[in-house]
Amino acid sequence: MKLDGIRKTLHQVDKIRYRPAVIGKIARGYFRTLVLRKPTVRIVEFSINTACQSNCEYCYASKLHRRGDQLLEVDEIQDIWQQAKKLGAFSSLLLGGEPSLHPKFLDIVRVLEPKTNIVTFATNCISLTEEMIIELKKMGVFIIYVSINSVDPATNDEVRGYPGHYEQVMRVLEQCKKHKIDVVLPITTSKPLLPETIKLLDFAKQNGLVANIGLFAPTGRAEGQKEVLFDEGFWKQLRKLYDSNRGLRGDWDTNFTLEVGCPAAYEKLHIGPYGDVTGCALQPMSFGSLREKPLAEVVEQMRSFKHFKKRAPSCIMALDKQFIEDYVDFAVDSVSTPYPIEKNPCYKTDCGG
Ligand code: SF4
Repeated sequence: MKLDGIRKTLHQVDKIRYRPAVIGKIARGYFRTLVLRKPTVRIVEFSINTACQSNCEYCYASKLHRRGDQLLEVDEIQDIWQQAKKLGAFSSLLLGGEPSLHPKFLDIVRVLEPKTNIVTFATNCISLTEEMIIELKKMGVFIIYVSINSVDPATNDEVRGYPGHYEQVMRVLEQCKKHKIDVVLPITTSKPLLPETIKLLDFAKQNGLVANIGLFAPTGRAEGQKEVLFDEGFWKQLRKLYDSNRGLRGDWDTNFTLEVGCPAAYEKLHIGPYGDVTGCALQPMSFGSLREKPLAEVVEQMRSFKHFKKRAPSCIMALDKQFIEDYVDFAVDSVSTPYPIEKNPCYKTDCGG
């Protein structure tokens, strides 16, 4: 797998050609991880809001909204980012809801320092205007994630729960091309969705886009839907797909360790809309709120959690039956997620409590 990791990393270097300041930070991450043996964060995901115009069938974020709580303010996000940089982070991904609907979206992008780091966001394209694309480019954003579920407009719009979504995506793809912004297609796949995934990969290739595959997880609106989960055999099939597509990767492919595996807590963190820290945007358990504790303290606690510490060789949200049974299914009874992990009795046992 090391060779595969190196190949994907080289491809990543090719994609960050616009941001030479980042190359030194990446080199430092490899040095700390491979030589000093110190885990180093590379990416922080921020779910900055919960509002969205789509109504996707499988939305993982459907339970993020917490009535009565205030979203993180711009200065709180700025402070979290400064803390994350001390842990090694050089890259951030804004999620939601639909992040471009946040009234201070551009201010948030600015405090994440896009001129000297990689700042990107995942968008459904509906509210993303050409003016915003131009402004983002000026600020230093050079890559965005554009969500699409099918190459067939009718199927796509049905899955997204938004008539005309496909058309909006095509508009944004054209505008990104015009303004020289790279586009990544984040594709969520599962056993039944694989044929559609392959069609989307062809679409990405034909249009010179990078594809990033995520796996279907039984969370949010897909809670309890375990029948479409991956299994080991399918994971191997997917790996072959990766190996035969240079531009294709998942977030388990670009680890500083050069190993394929779940980066949660070690190389990747997710901050929820109200400051809760989880291993990634899909995970429904919070290890603490940054309104109460510093990031370094929360990360230290996360790294001693059994399921992160084992550095699983594949996505634990899609493939680890024990983890799903103990921690993901527990969220079914929560009105909103992430839930505090201390509430889960399995955590006490797993952490030797
Ligand atoms: S569980 Fe791990 S591999 Fe799966 S999406 Fe989250 S961080 Fe990535």
